[in-house]
Amino acid sequence: MTWASIFRRIDPEPAPPSDPWEATAGEIRRIASPCPVCGKTELAGHSFGLFASEIAAEVTPELNRFTENFDAARWQELRKSRNFYGGSNAAEVYFLSCATGACMLYVRNPVDHYEWFELLAAKDLSADEAAEIEAMKIELHKL
Ligand SMILES: [Zn+2]
Repeated sequence: MTWASIFRRIDPEPAPPSDPWEATAGEIRRIASPCPVCGKTELAGHSFGLFASEIAAEVTPELNRFTENFDAARWQELRKSRNFYGGSNAAEVYFLSCATGACMLYVRNPVDHYEWFELLAAKDLSADEAAEIEAMKIELHKL
C-alpha cells in the first residue's frame, strides 16, 4: 500500500446541477409533502417560485414586518421584501401552485449547509389571491 493509493480520486467530481433551482426544488418537495393544498404526497405537476425573502440573522424591524405581512396576507407589501445575505439565515416565502389551488409557504432557510429548510407556516390562497399573485409574474419552477 502506498499513500498515493489512499489519496487517489476514483469518482469524477459531480457535475454542477444544470438547474440552479434543483436543490431548492428538493427542499420544497420535502417540506411541502403532503401538499397543503391538495394533500398529495407526490408533487409532480406542482410548481413553486420564490416570492419574498428577508435576512434572519437577528430580530429586526424588517423581519418583524416581513412576518406580519405574511400573517396578514398582505401579499403586495410582502413582495417588496427581496433582502438576502449569504452569510446568515433567511426567512423566505414560496408560492406553491397545483391543479387544485395555491398556497404560500413561510420557510426558514439556514445558512449552514448541514441544516435543511424548515417549514414554519403555510397559508392557503383564495382563487382571487392566487390570480393576484400569478399576475405578479413570479419566476416559477417545476417540482
Ligand atoms: Zn397540491
